[in-house]
Amino acid sequence: VIELGMPTRSVVTTCAYCGVGCSFKAELRGDELVRMVPFKDGGANEGHSCVKGRFAFGYASHPDRVMEPMVRESITDPWRKVSWEEAITYTARRLQEIQSTYGQGSIGAITSSRTTNEEVYAVQKMVRAVFGNNNVDTCARVCHSPTGYGLKQTFGESAGTQDFSSVEKADVILLIGANPTDGHPVFASRMKRRLRQGAKLIVVDPRRIDLVRSPHIEAAHHLQLAPGTNVAVVNAFAHVVVTEGLVDRSFVEERCEDFEQWEQFISGPEHSPEAVESVTGIPAEELRAAARLYATGGNGAIYYGLGVTEHSQGSTTVMGMANLAMATGNIGRRGVGVNPLRGQNNVQGSCDMGSFPHELPGYRHVSDDGARDVYEQLWGTPILNEPGLRIPNMFDAAIDGSFRALFVQGEDIAQSDPNIQHVHAALAALDLVVVQDLFENETAKFAHVLLPGTSFLEKDGTFTNAERRINRVRPVMAPKTGKQEWQIICEIAQAMGYPMHYDSASQIMDEIALTTPTFAGVSFAHLDKVGSVQWPCNLEAPNGTPIMHSDEFTRGKGRFMETMYVPTSERSTRKYPLILTTGRILSQYNVGAQTRRTANVAWHPEDILELHPHDAEVRGIENGDMVALSSRVGRTTLRAELSERMPVGVCYTTFHHPVTGANVITTDNSDWATNCPEYKVTAVQVDLVVEP
Ligand code: SF4
Repeated sequence: VIELGMPTRSVVTTCAYCGVGCSFKAELRGDELVRMVPFKDGGANEGHSCVKGRFAFGYASHPDRVMEPMVRESITDPWRKVSWEEAITYTARRLQEIQSTYGQGSIGAITSSRTTNEEVYAVQKMVRAVFGNNNVDTCARVCHSPTGYGLKQTFGESAGTQDFSSVEKADVILLIGANPTDGHPVFASRMKRRLRQGAKLIVVDPRRIDLVRSPHIEAAHHLQLAPGTNVAVVNAFAHVVVTEGLVDRSFVEERCEDFEQWEQFISGPEHSPEAVESVTGIPAEELRAAARLYATGGNGAIYYGLGVTEHSQGSTTVMGMANLAMATGNIGRRGVGVNPLRGQNNVQGSCDMGSFPHELPGYRHVSDDGARDVYEQLWGTPILNEPGLRIPNMFDAAIDGSFRALFVQGEDIAQSDPNIQHVHAALAALDLVVVQDLFENETAKFAHVLLPGTSFLEKDGTFTNAERRINRVRPVMAPKTGKQEWQIICEIAQAMGYPMHYDSASQIMDEIALTTPTFAGVSFAHLDKVGSVQWPCNLEAPNGTPIMHSDEFTRGKGRFMETMYVPTSERSTRKYPLILTTGRILSQYNVGAQTRRTANVAWHPEDILELHPHDAEVRGIENGDMVALSSRVGRTTLRAELSERMPVGVCYTTFHHPVTGANVITTDNSDWATNCPEYKVTAVQVDLVVEP
């Protein structure tokens, strides 16, 4: 049942699922949520929504919710329900004991892209000001960290360049490694509208996603590349642009630097479509035609997703796309740009808020004396000037014994991170794991303290979507567990002897605005007045910045970077002859913690393996058979679905279910610059499971 009766009041808030950041009116009768109605004035969605945002909120009142804090000495002990006071005192005491025994760097925290900016800010402050180290990382490590790195190197700012409405002026859409109809449905509708009006589409994806051919839409080119060869494809585009005289010379001369040396690099014959045809699997003529279309078809807009970032060369591909946009002058106005489609609701925000181990809020490196000084003055404590541990470093250090305690805010690392066997071993080796979450998730199985989290309906704060839009998340109801998550963080900090206190989430945003130049004009009062703003929002741009790099790049001149293609070490072999790639489906969300607990959505009850009929036939596999999927790190079983969406030699699965668990299979390979895992390329074998 979706509609429970006539509402008596409503609250405007923001969807807690994907990075589109749709606004909704949550309609209530008394304290009961009746329905979610897409908000017509929502800056990101203009009255539209998808099935998840509209109907998948039942998890917030699911009986699985953790409602009281719980503690146990050992993970083999049963949980003991305790008061908030005991849970917080216990957590603080154990963190201090561990630090005094093993050193200041022996503890750390992981933040979530599912929590608010204010909650993330509070955690990174606790780590820096109270733990006294920089061991804080965000789950964006495993999705869009290459976006942050690559766009910072080239443009000077770790964020997408456009607002969503910009797509309405695009003439050519280059969609790389993203499946918006499943991952970002409301933005996909906007893109489809533009395509139906006549914009041309180039899809770069090993899998034939829906947008390649859907009602009234047919991609001009579907470049069905071999997984792991994005850099070769993007370089080939740039090679065609440079060698066929398609460079926007006046833009490059006025706005960019290091062009000449890059031009020499990219002109090399090894980057030509003909040279990379055998690597990418894309016919040279088709690649050449697609490159010409992007460069000459009018406004060229690049949109991309995790099919770009989750590779050993994710950062290189991001820089390659930035090179391409600069070389063709496709940056700084409506209809163009380089646009990451962020996965979770607050990926952008969790990165903005300084929860990377090397960056303070606003992407200022911890070695930046001026930036550190701002926080040292305000927080009254020194801040380390050296980066802390990234998530994979934390796991490695846990296994070698130098890292002993981890605070995990709203992130299920025991299901979502690659090579789960390694993650489980690391978690099991820790002396203290504190999980703050709605549910007793897979990570909580390794926890000693379980602190109840709040759902988006109870939160007060902001999320920042993929277009840098800061949206208010207003409490539709009081926290069912009695505390906002930022209050819990403050109380742990206080119990550890540090005076951290705020009266409200609004006060935290005021501190963010005070200390972060790109947020200087943001306040809850301003957001309530104007609806939402896109950062930078400050004195120069009081109403925000929908299009970045209009007159000059954030770093001054846009910088061309040499992007050498280096093949991944993950290759198909005689033992593991197929390549597995992973993704999402519309009705599920990430590890499924929310969507699996929502009756309203027709969710798929299990992950399935898409396999080309030829690969199935040679293995004696038929549609619906159970198959064993194995890689050099693990093995799982799931059901096969034969599909010609996949090319021969490549198979595909999702990662929504803990039982089938695709991350049992994925490896430790990661992006050279950021350690973002290479979820998209795993050599596997598929065998029919013969029932006894
Ligand atoms: Fe929520 Fe994304 Fe769907 Fe919008 S498109 S309703 S933000 S899941």
